[in-house]
Amino acid sequence: EDVVLNRREDATDRLLDIADQFKGGGVEKKKEDLEWRSWPVGKRIEHALVKGIDTFVVEDTEEARLSFDRPIQVIEGPLMDGMNTVGDLFGDGKMFLPQVVKSARVMKKAVAHLLPFIEAEKDGNTQSAGKILMATVKGDVHDIGKNIVGVVLQCNNFEIIDLGVMVPAQKILDAAVEHKVDIIGLSGLITPSLEEMSHIASEMQRLKMNIPLMIGGATTSRAHTAVKIEPGYQNGPSVWVKDASRAVGVAQSLISEDLKTDFVAKLREDYEQVRENHANRQRAIKWLTLEQARANKTQIDWDNYTPAAPKQMGIQVFDNFPLEELRDYIDWTPFFHSWELKGSYPKIFDDAQKGEEARKLYDDAQAMLDKIINEKWLQAKAVVGIFPANSVGDDIEIFANEDRTEVITTFHNLRQQQKKADSKPNRCLSDFIAPKDSGKTDYLGGFAVTAGIGIDKHVAAFEKDHDDYSAIMLKALADRLAEAFAERMHEKVRREIWAYNSEQLSNEQLIKEQYKGIRPAAGYPTSPDHTEKDNLWKLLSVKNNTGITLTESKAMLPTAAVSGLYFAHPESTYFAVGKINKDQVEEYAERKGITLKDAEYWLAPNLGY
Ligand code: SAH
Repeated sequence: EDVVLNRREDATDRLLDIADQFKGGGVEKKKEDLEWRSWPVGKRIEHALVKGIDTFVVEDTEEARLSFDRPIQVIEGPLMDGMNTVGDLFGDGKMFLPQVVKSARVMKKAVAHLLPFIEAEKDGNTQSAGKILMATVKGDVHDIGKNIVGVVLQCNNFEIIDLGVMVPAQKILDAAVEHKVDIIGLSGLITPSLEEMSHIASEMQRLKMNIPLMIGGATTSRAHTAVKIEPGYQNGPSVWVKDASRAVGVAQSLISEDLKTDFVAKLREDYEQVRENHANRQRAIKWLTLEQARANKTQIDWDNYTPAAPKQMGIQVFDNFPLEELRDYIDWTPFFHSWELKGSYPKIFDDAQKGEEARKLYDDAQAMLDKIINEKWLQAKAVVGIFPANSVGDDIEIFANEDRTEVITTFHNLRQQQKKADSKPNRCLSDFIAPKDSGKTDYLGGFAVTAGIGIDKHVAAFEKDHDDYSAIMLKALADRLAEAFAERMHEKVRREIWAYNSEQLSNEQLIKEQYKGIRPAAGYPTSPDHTEKDNLWKLLSVKNNTGITLTESKAMLPTAAVSGLYFAHPESTYFAVGKINKDQVEEYAERKGITLKDAEYWLAPNLGY
């Protein structure tokens, strides 16, 4: 009251005095926070490691160095003690991945400080748990998962040789020999990487190598490792590693003389079973011929439907799209998944075990997002285009203009070919576009967006500062912004550009895909062939308009990018093509003008024969 009514000169000071006592436990917390600063230096380092606090680590490490006989003892003593605690807690599920990565940051900064002193002493031989080579395979650019696994392994005293992304087989194998590594870890996210991994495994067999292989990444699986990798590499073990939390156990089992024999024997037995189950499943597939599948296509009454003509036809480029506008379109659930915190946003904050960590991670993400936006760390670019189109069988033809005489490109699609138990149709994307012979003028859209322009410089700066936590955070956020951008552009297309639907949906509704129409991406379940991106790149001049390029496996660079097609028909829906049979693959190859062998290479994960 004194303050509000301006009754006393010292009212503000008195209020501030009282306010301190009501800071929601703040006073006490502050005391507690700093109490550890009075502990002996070894304990302080251990505490900083376990809590992931990097504020004082360099000064503490220096103090410790001066108090020990030799700098290496700081690593072997307090640093290792701290990391062992972290490793145990993580292994027991009492600590979560973001905390581990933060602890690793403390460790790396401490080691970086000690390294020059250790080198000066020329005695850097700490006992490592083993040497592991890691690489994202040729054609693939995704490395969040690989980097996380690397950090977790380092926390457990493994020495990591990280060859980065897009690494050719030969380079991986040469480096493995040169560094005499104990394990090779292969990582990849997109489906073509699965074939590249099998190739590397068979090369290892040919070269009579016997180094254990660890396989990881989003599209990898136990079945893939058992069916496609192990049979080609009999000389050494191949193990699928589900996530970072399993990596340590697997690596230890593969290196330990005591554990290895049993572990590998059990593994071989397991994978034999997986292969048998897989073969049985393939045999049990009830096929339709391609012709039969087509006869059961999605029924759309084209006679009574008039496709909406776009308000703005042709290509539009969006340069430097405002990032603050994208922030509200972020789907946060996959963000938590990339940090191995499983659960959905925002419910995850209430989780008894991981809620608190999820909240901290989210706060860190928000703080970094502020910087990304205010300091313009990233630029977002997009190209979208809507074109006259009609379907011809399973293909979709794109025309130069409304005359519909000149076909400028053709998108080739795959059709679900397994017999359905219910009366569901055997879908193909072309079902959602009016057939040429219907006489209806229909349209197809395409898009490519990125939010990753300018990221490399900032990632490099974090990595140079031994800050994997921030480097991984930045990549994960750029990915989120790219997906948000895809969502935002799709909304713009529905409401303003194609303007076929003016509905304003909440972000929750958008995430649940409640919009009319779809935006399938090449390489995903509805259109599993990554090479269809080549057509899209030409149609929209994606490289010139946005700077996004494709690797030989059709991964997009910058990594934080999304591309796909727009379908407007209200009945168009996402679906999974699933397994397909040889008659379809043969015809598909012919339609695309590629060899059967090439078609089988690109469609490998979908082959059901
Ligand atoms: N909201 C999620 C979307 C991830 S899916 C996120 O933020 O991560 C990534 C992209 O794939 C989508 O933007 C969409 O273009 C496309 N997509 C979604 N489901 C698909 C499917 N079943 N088949 C093909 N593409 C799909």
